[in-house]
Amino acid sequence: MIADTFGRVHDYLRISLTDNCNLRCFYCMPEEDYVFTPASQLMQLHEIEALANVFVQQGVSKIRLTGGEPLVRKDAAAIITALSRLPVQLTLTTNGTRLHEFIPVLQHAGVHSLNISLDTLQPDRFRLLTRRDQFELVKRNIDAILQQQFHVKVNMVVMKGLNDTEINDFIAWTKDVPVHVRFIEFMPFSGNRWTSNKVFIWQEILQVVQQEYEVVRLEDNLHDTAKKYTVPGHAGTFAVISTMSAPFCGGCNRIRLTADGKMKNCLFSSEETDLLTAFRNGEDVLPLIQQSIRSKAKELGGQFSADINTVHAEDIHNRSMITIGG
Ligand code: SAM
Ligand code: SF4
Repeated sequence: MIADTFGRVHDYLRISLTDNCNLRCFYCMPEEDYVFTPASQLMQLHEIEALANVFVQQGVSKIRLTGGEPLVRKDAAAIITALSRLPVQLTLTTNGTRLHEFIPVLQHAGVHSLNISLDTLQPDRFRLLTRRDQFELVKRNIDAILQQQFHVKVNMVVMKGLNDTEINDFIAWTKDVPVHVRFIEFMPFSGNRWTSNKVFIWQEILQVVQQEYEVVRLEDNLHDTAKKYTVPGHAGTFAVISTMSAPFCGGCNRIRLTADGKMKNCLFSSEETDLLTAFRNGEDVLPLIQQSIRSKAKELGGQFSADINTVHAEDIHNRSMITIGG
């Protein structure tokens, strides 16, 4: 069992497969000319498998693959297949651009649920936010994956003045389509131009939806990061991930492994534990994992509080989101 000093048991591992990506979302990958980590410094397939196995033996029962964009990695299909042999619920967060090549692999691996990122329903704005012209492809892939009966959660990072006017367009999408939209509060990471006045918080999101729709709160589970809602009669649902205004650290069960094999005990931790080098040196990584979890802070990596007006992005010591794995 992997437990911290606050009694939180960690049974959910998020593995980043790469810091490479074919989109350039400014809030995630700050620099257009960012240099991706060379493949030799990334965990190789057998290393991912072996490290994942250590976590599974300690009670991890859910693994999410993320990145960067996990599906741009050349051996992504082999990794998905290898991890599907572990006794875990396997899932994936993707930008959706490569999904059409992976549907059979995912089905074969028993992946039933996917998180797909889409911050706008407008092609021009998609180009502005991601610096790439792939809206139609992503939308088509979401439609295709829904046709194949996958459970689809759509991650939409809400940013004031950028896409907050589209909240109810996303709600309208849930009317006839069984898609589960998750509005995410904009979070500060190294170099991502975060300022508190760009954050559109949970209550503001809810107010916008309630101006047009009747809204019913759904029940939360202990480890939920999202406050879930439904509009009566809609095929899909929506939720808000209120990391900034109402963090959910009390029920946190998540551990992160970066693509270069560093364990992070929190999305916002400044500390990292180098499991890959230890593994390559033939060391036992379990004591390192236990030690890292024991040093986990109570809330938000110990770096800031939920009073967003007091948060200054430049005071937070962390990687950019693309190198952590969201
Ligand atoms: N490339 C994949 C994707 O876009 O879904 C997986 C990696 S991405 C880092 C994972 C999630 O983190 C995405 O849903 C993305 O929108 C979210 N994300 C990235 N930067 C963020 C930020 N500054 N605030 C909130 N969410 C962010
Ligand atoms: Fe790439 Fe996902 Fe980051 Fe966008 S959010 S740059 S798609 S890793």
